[in-house]
Amino acid sequence: MDKKKPYIAILGAGESGVGTAILAKKQGFEVWVSDFGTIKQIYKQELALHHISFEEGGHTESKIVCADTIVKSPGISDGAPIVLKASAQGVEIISEIEFAGRYTNAFIIGITGSNGKTTTTLWIYHMLQLAGFNVGLAGNVGKSFARQVANQNFDYYVIELSSFQLDGMTSFKCNIALLLNITPDHLDRYNNNFEEYIASKFRITQNQTVDDYFVFSADDETISHHLQKNAGCAKQLQFSTQKQLSVGAWLHDDRIIFKAVNSNFDMIYTKLALDGKHNAANGMAAGIAADVLSISNDKIRESLASFSGVEHRLEPFISVRGVEFINDSKATNVNSTWYALESTRKPTVWIVGGIDKGNDYGELDALVSRKVKAIVCMGVNNQPIVDHFYGKVPQIVETSNMQDAVSHAFQLARKGDCVLLSPACASFDLFDNYEDRGNQFKLSVRDL
Ligand code: ADP
Repeated sequence: MDKKKPYIAILGAGESGVGTAILAKKQGFEVWVSDFGTIKQIYKQELALHHISFEEGGHTESKIVCADTIVKSPGISDGAPIVLKASAQGVEIISEIEFAGRYTNAFIIGITGSNGKTTTTLWIYHMLQLAGFNVGLAGNVGKSFARQVANQNFDYYVIELSSFQLDGMTSFKCNIALLLNITPDHLDRYNNNFEEYIASKFRITQNQTVDDYFVFSADDETISHHLQKNAGCAKQLQFSTQKQLSVGAWLHDDRIIFKAVNSNFDMIYTKLALDGKHNAANGMAAGIAADVLSISNDKIRESLASFSGVEHRLEPFISVRGVEFINDSKATNVNSTWYALESTRKPTVWIVGGIDKGNDYGELDALVSRKVKAIVCMGVNNQPIVDHFYGKVPQIVETSNMQDAVSHAFQLARKGDCVLLSPACASFDLFDNYEDRGNQFKLSVRDL
């Protein structure tokens, strides 16, 4: 008689869940997919095509807790009842990336941080493509890692890793791990404990050996503090926008200096494809990763200058009668908005607001008083913003939808100013998500 097939239950049937199901089926697992909500039609068709059983609108406990392995979507919290039940029974619960990582020998470049993950991930991908690597892109962007491991044959993967993905990883290893920064975020998923969130981010270095690389910011005190106690054994390379280093990448006057593994060159800072100090940091991190992969100085320089950026991240949109509009809808916390305000070079009308995760707006005071001529609040509850900035900027206007916000901002701006949408808040009070918010911004600007 055949040995019983290993049984996998997959919680969540989005791109990562469906990709996992396809890979698991291919690897000979018995597969069951369960989604508490509704599954998109296109995914249902795909599951049916692969003869994979699924349910939606709830979880059948008996079909889940008996699994050998559960792969949980990063959107489902560890505290969800079905997850608690399964872990009480001792079932292995892992993330899609962990599962897929078990079935590929590709070289892995993993990127995490509180801000800048998507930008840096796409920048590295751009560099590797330009250098002719056979490379896949995974994480929160595009097709799931699991789906690509099932259907493609890449030698390299560049993967954006959120802390939720990292939490479900045990044996996964990054050959090059990048940690961009750590600031408090998502603490509701970490018992409001910053230390737990830091530990989660540092899982990017787990299982690394002396043959691997760990690339991180030399400017981030949280990172350096943690490293004093947990150095890890990978080779370390750092980047900095604030201090001179002897190895790695750093800013010196108007130049970026690269002196990491093979690299030894500098380039004028303003030649970088993206504006802002934070993007200098992202570019340096990406360049170091490329250098570890022996990409030539010229190619790194070229790809640092030619990257086209990512939509909704400090995205220069259009100018209307001399007023420039910038879409930074992805700025969902104070730290990312700090960098957006830091990067503007014109008097700024700032559109801010949404769901505030306990923001300390005081961190923005110095920049706001230097750069912001008017604030347009846009949210269901604008009070914390009005209270904080009252008397600190010449004008504050309250609005509760995008069209009003954009039209007020335009009235307040003069030729030569910029209007910056950088909300420092989540979008769910008025929008489906940050993409919807950014798209509505662009539509409203076009309508002016
Ligand atoms: P993530 O994927 O980590 O959310 P993104 O690249 O999507 O990061 O950028 C999210 C927001 O953070 C954008 O508003 C962007 O301008 C800003 N940002 C990008 N890189 C950094 C950085 N290194 N530090 C702080 N903010 C950043």
